[in-house]
Amino acid sequence: MKRVVAGLAVAVLALTACSTGGPDEPGPGTSQPNPAPQGGSPGVKTSGPYPFGTVQQKAPPIENGQVPLIRRITTDKPYVFLTMDDGAVQDPDALKLMQQNGTHPVLFLNQKYVKGHEAYFKQILDATGATLGDHTVNHPNLKGKPYEFQRKEICDDADDFQKSLGIRPSLFRPPFGNYDQNTLKAAAACGMRASVLWTAAVNDGHVQFQVGDKLRPGDIVLMHFRKTFKEDYTAFVEQAKKDGLIPVPLADFLG
Ligand SMILES: [Zn+2]
Repeated sequence: MKRVVAGLAVAVLALTACSTGGPDEPGPGTSQPNPAPQGGSPGVKTSGPYPFGTVQQKAPPIENGQVPLIRRITTDKPYVFLTMDDGAVQDPDALKLMQQNGTHPVLFLNQKYVKGHEAYFKQILDATGATLGDHTVNHPNLKGKPYEFQRKEICDDADDFQKSLGIRPSLFRPPFGNYDQNTLKAAAACGMRASVLWTAAVNDGHVQFQVGDKLRPGDIVLMHFRKTFKEDYTAFVEQAKKDGLIPVPLADFLG
């Protein structure tokens, strides 16, 4: 996995969390098998398990025709975000694992991998509270490519998912984390509201941190649909628990 080159300004989310939680609520690490969404004030999303209060945060606005670039989420709550990329290997146990833990990941999928496996991914999306993301059709390195090439890769992925899965993604991740200004413009033109990178990754059953030796609140974690899905997924769940963090839907923080 190539390291992200910080060539563009990173948009850091301003904290706009609306908290109903308190110190007497269930502590981090407490098992939370899909607890009922908590009530909230009008306009507050409650699609995920929020033992520390419901949350609604907005993505930074589209400026100069470019979607904001998100590396992590600013939050004072012990929340962490899981993302699963590509879709190259369809582990038959993925659905069961995700239902057991309620990790609410974003699936940044490529149409070239989803093709022929629509039912597999549709079932996961329908049954686990996962969010569908756009990751281009063919997983090319977009950086430096002409605008029209990039726009087609991003828009066609979203268009195809709308037809084949009945869902149009609005979060985007550039393959390899490589992007330029045309990428951010093309993503905006295709209806995306943010381009999402990551601050930790799981490979071969090990969580790798960009900073320090543990997951921090607001970290966005990358794993893949690979042969090591079980090991990677389990490593994430155990690391989050160890660090007192609860996985919640990223889309709720990038409204
Ligand atoms: Zn990828």
